[in-house]
Amino acid sequence: MRCPFCKEDDSRVVDSRTTDEGAAIRRRRECASCGRRFTTAENTVLIVAKRSGVQEPFSRAKVIGGVRKACQGRPVSEDDLGRLAQRVEDAVRAAGIAEIPAMEVGLAILGPLRELDEVAYLRFASVYRSFDNLEDFEAEIALLRAEGEPLGQEPVNTKSNTRPTTKSSQSS
Ligand SMILES: [Zn+2]
Repeated sequence: MRCPFCKEDDSRVVDSRTTDEGAAIRRRRECASCGRRFTTAENTVLIVAKRSGVQEPFSRAKVIGGVRKACQGRPVSEDDLGRLAQRVEDAVRAAGIAEIPAMEVGLAILGPLRELDEVAYLRFASVYRSFDNLEDFEAEIALLRAEGEPLGQEPVNTKSNTRPTTKSSQSS
């Protein structure tokens, strides 16, 4: 393992411990050249199997990318997205299988996203579950209303407040 300080290839393990209840291994290494210490982590690779048959490693960045679109204009920070992706990863890892259908990853996103922002959730769910008419939205909103507590934050209303009050065109 290459030393991140001096790029020397030779290092020795000085400590090794499992973390995350055995799901990962962390190693403390010491560089044979400069003597500095650094940590490496070893994790099983989660494979996401798409419907097309394509397999790819699970990526938190991909989760964030997908969710970010649904969160446009919503009060959701990068930190929120990072935490959501972590929760999704924890959830799919907790399933304890090496290969997860992409569907399952989408399902794992829905719960945390709903807690984060209900509008973003509706947007994401509408794509993910292919809502194709108003009734689908209405049914989902009814479900949210029935299950959820009142919203903690006011929905972003309209942009009309920011518009200047002067009428611009007075042509005759
Ligand atoms: Zn070194």
